[in-house]
Amino acid sequence: MSTVSPQPFQVQRNDRPAPDARRAAALAAPKFGTVFTDHMARITWTVADGWGARRVEPYGPLSVDPACAVLHYAQEIFEGLKAYGHDDGSVWTFRPRTNAARFARSARRLALPELSGDDFVESLRALVTVDQAWVPRGEEMSLYLRPFMFASESFLGVRPSQQVDYIVIASPVGAYFPGGVRPVSIWVEREYHRAGPGGTGAAKCGGNYAASLLPQTHGYDHDCDQVCFLDAGTKTFLEELGGMNVMVVYADGTVRTPPVSDAILEGVTRSSILTLLTDAGHEVDEAPVALPDLLEGIASGSVAEVFACGTAAVITPIGRLVGDDFDVTVSDGQAGPVTMSIRAELTDIQYGRRPDRHTWLHRLV
Ligand SMILES: *Cc1c(COP(=O)(O)O)cnc(C)c1O
Repeated sequence: MSTVSPQPFQVQRNDRPAPDARRAAALAAPKFGTVFTDHMARITWTVADGWGARRVEPYGPLSVDPACAVLHYAQEIFEGLKAYGHDDGSVWTFRPRTNAARFARSARRLALPELSGDDFVESLRALVTVDQAWVPRGEEMSLYLRPFMFASESFLGVRPSQQVDYIVIASPVGAYFPGGVRPVSIWVEREYHRAGPGGTGAAKCGGNYAASLLPQTHGYDHDCDQVCFLDAGTKTFLEELGGMNVMVVYADGTVRTPPVSDAILEGVTRSSILTLLTDAGHEVDEAPVALPDLLEGIASGSVAEVFACGTAAVITPIGRLVGDDFDVTVSDGQAGPVTMSIRAELTDIQYGRRPDRHTWLHRLV
């Protein structure tokens, strides 16, 4: 535990912020990741001097040298969390220390410098304080926060970058399912993998997402919304979606999710849901889920619900699983009761509508 308070961020105000009307329009109907607030938080690190000045500066394009290392070798990591406006005007985020710890683990795996948890949380607080007018107030709306870190040295040699930039940007987002929560179809990918033993699957890095894009187009070709990946060794066990963990609810109330490994990212939503399910009396089982067993369970009725979970969509019910030799419907394509109740409980906590028993909320403004 550090006993000194985190270094303050110096604010350089944007003297050309978005006009009120433009901000109001963006907040009324936000489209994920398209509009950004007036500022960004930033810290530059160099091997010689470590982390430099903490600052909040006007949002704007970066000037990047064509030899910038990240453009060539993808030494980059990111995080994703949300700021929630509560009815009394306060603004909160959810388990930011957990994201900070994961960011540090991702940094280690990608040979990037670790940012302290204090700097991580303070960067969010500083940015959201300056841009608090950008926190949307409607149902299931939030300000999505995207901290990221990348190799910013201009050098083509293959070694860890000696200069790195940490930046946080923010974007107002609306309900992930504007017309109400709707089960999605999942393509179970057998040809490609997003991660493998000893790889970067447990790190939140852009490269994992790059590897998921081609299989994602396979999914679209089969009329599916998203892709579920299998383990690279045996192509038998479910790992996760490109950006969400996966859970199976059995008819007896047991909930099973694949255990985290070096090929599965440890989601904050995953961990929170496991806690809430345990509180609610469900048997929670972190154990491998074999695809043949899952398909059999869906056919026999022993599998009642399947869902995916992550910060962006919270919980996405899975209504259909499609692979090269199967196409099965889970629970008549309706979102199941466990899926919907756990989704309601988690979002109620995040928006301050239910007691925060586990002190997961962290006040920003
Ligand atoms: C971000 C991410 C998740 C979900 O993590 P949360 O902390 O719940 O948002 C799951 N899988 C992958 C691969 C991810 O990148």
